[in-house]
Amino acid sequence: MNKEEKIISIINEAEEVLASHFKENKDLAYKNFKKVMQAFNTHSVMESDFNGTTGYGYDDTGRDKLEDIYRDVFKAEDALVRTQIISGTHAISLVLLSILREGDELLYITGQPYDTLEKVIGNSIDDVGSLMELGVKFNTIDLKEDQFDTEKILESISDQTKIVGIQRSRGYSARKSMSIEEIKTIIKTIKEKHPNVIVFVDNCYGEFVESKEPLEVGADIIAGSLIKNPGGGLAKMGGYVAGRQDLVERVSYRLTVPGVGKEMGASLNALTDMYQGFFMAPHAVIESVNGALLMAYVFEQLNMTASPSYKDKRTDLIQSVSFNTEEEMITFTQMIQKASPVNSRFLPIPDQIPGYQNPVIMAAGTFVQGASLELSADGPIRSPYTVYAQGGLHIEHVKYALEMVLSEMHEKGMIQL
Ligand SMILES: *Cc1c(COP(=O)(O)O)cnc(C)c1O
Repeated sequence: MNKEEKIISIINEAEEVLASHFKENKDLAYKNFKKVMQAFNTHSVMESDFNGTTGYGYDDTGRDKLEDIYRDVFKAEDALVRTQIISGTHAISLVLLSILREGDELLYITGQPYDTLEKVIGNSIDDVGSLMELGVKFNTIDLKEDQFDTEKILESISDQTKIVGIQRSRGYSARKSMSIEEIKTIIKTIKEKHPNVIVFVDNCYGEFVESKEPLEVGADIIAGSLIKNPGGGLAKMGGYVAGRQDLVERVSYRLTVPGVGKEMGASLNALTDMYQGFFMAPHAVIESVNGALLMAYVFEQLNMTASPSYKDKRTDLIQSVSFNTEEEMITFTQMIQKASPVNSRFLPIPDQIPGYQNPVIMAAGTFVQGASLELSADGPIRSPYTVYAQGGLHIEHVKYALEMVLSEMHEKGMIQL
């Protein structure tokens, strides 16, 4: 066999080993697709729903119907699905800034939240617009051996604790992601003792990876990004918030203005992509999960550390691979870029980014800027040289990228075939 044939046979073998995982995930995709499809039918989606409005955006019936569909699929009382929500961070910050008041405490029980929230929370009262400036207290409880630290959580919740925050996905950290089952157990335990506490779940990267969503297991409000899972690779922008009606109303008043809330906000020409993206999402998410499994298996065979392992149950899209050297990590990331449908000519190199201690390298050749349901990879350059990869709208793309990575790594003497 020549090199190319060897690489193809490694990937084929991986697919054979993973066949039963793929089948299980296909069943899951169907289960989730059914929920979406039934909501489309219940609300009788029509071509005219895609028209959108201009200006103030009154009577944007297509927008309102899409929000009803999200509401039903996520088992919420109400939902906001808007292009005016510019990112996942914006969706999350709307929740936090609309509910929390001076003297309230926000308690994150999955350790330090996602990097982009640092400025939203703030470090001092001098941080303009932050929760700190408002006089909100912020505390975190780290996971204990990758589990919720139940004892410490129960001890820490006080009368001031208004919101308990849970980040479902690991984001770019070494911890594991929290499964719906684990989230269910901790919420039940918290609510037994503190029924008034509001449980917020950052659902980014989690949608449609399991058969249930956080609101079904006791969360009060969730938020996420449309250029990740629920946008299905087609939505060009947007975010969503779903949950208890009174809370979503507060969020809507902060997104637009008090008294107006959901009534305004023109969707222009964005609705077709948002509808079709949600229709595609359960499938695209599972393609991406299967791509991550393939990556995990292949690199585990090559004696790298993949987290989660191909054997582990998944609850989000993130796949990390730890390499032996900086050069291997950079080669992997550069080849992901080279295997991208857009900007494949660009060669990513590590560079300093504000807020990060080490130089960071990023590969993203996506149709939609920053969209990470599309194949992308990044990580800070530091031992153990961990790259976080996510996305892949279909597994063919991940296979193609893997072939390029393996070929280049072999070329450079980093792996034996
Ligand atoms: C992506 C992500 C965010 C932030 O979303 P952006 O759209 O990048 O602002 C927040 N939390 C988690 C867990 C994420 O994965």
